[in-house]
Amino acid sequence: MIKLGPGGTAGLGYDEGIKEIARLGLTALEVEFTHGVHMKNEVAKIIGQLAKKNNISLSVHAPYFINLASLEKAKINASIKRILDSCERAHYLKATHVVYHSGFFQKQDPKKVKEIITENTAFIMDKIKENNWKTTISPELTGKPSQYGSISELLELKKETGCEITIDFAHQKARQQGKIDYAEIFDQIKSLKHIHAHFSGIVWTEKGERNHIITEEKDIMPLAKEILKRKADITLINESPDPMGDAVKTKKIFDKLR
Ligand SMILES: [Zn+2]
Repeated sequence: MIKLGPGGTAGLGYDEGIKEIARLGLTALEVEFTHGVHMKNEVAKIIGQLAKKNNISLSVHAPYFINLASLEKAKINASIKRILDSCERAHYLKATHVVYHSGFFQKQDPKKVKEIITENTAFIMDKIKENNWKTTISPELTGKPSQYGSISELLELKKETGCEITIDFAHQKARQQGKIDYAEIFDQIKSLKHIHAHFSGIVWTEKGERNHIITEEKDIMPLAKEILKRKADITLINESPDPMGDAVKTKKIFDKLR
């Protein structure tokens, strides 16, 4: 199944936002805890019920300030707390994935970074199990090689810890300086039963991602074709500055191609 929706409710709030998403014929929403987890569990439960009633699948984006490989132990602990708080809300929201960027290399030995991120990811997975939260973590394919989270790094992390992974196609494009081969990516991730994914237009520099921009039809078309060709089971969240409008644009392209 292909599920499309926005990252965040475009300022509408959850009540209006969820109704608008349903009205537009979209079926997914990524709840964004961009600057911190301020939602109460009881509120999460109500939003989860509203989403379910409107046939919208939820996921969660944990706060941006996360670095599981920081040189400072206090920052690692704060990062773990932000992710676990997001997981607890995700449980009440009945959200399937908690997405975040794992961390930065910061001139450390890449092997050491891999080790510490794997260790902390496994720790978070244990906590989810311990708390019996019905969700999972899904570290994201990041937009810069200075950040942990290439496709191969994520696949290895999944193998070692049992976490899910989030494929951000725009980030991959930025990593490859605008060159992107969807057939190659889908070959690499063919072990995934369900693909949780992000998409948008993107601007990059030689260091990778700079910022997300409006998603153009010519960017959506080759991805949509590959998804249909592979009969992929995928949730595609749009993260452009107009996530709602661009998710609808994406839906129209799928409808046209079908
Ligand atoms: Zn993303």
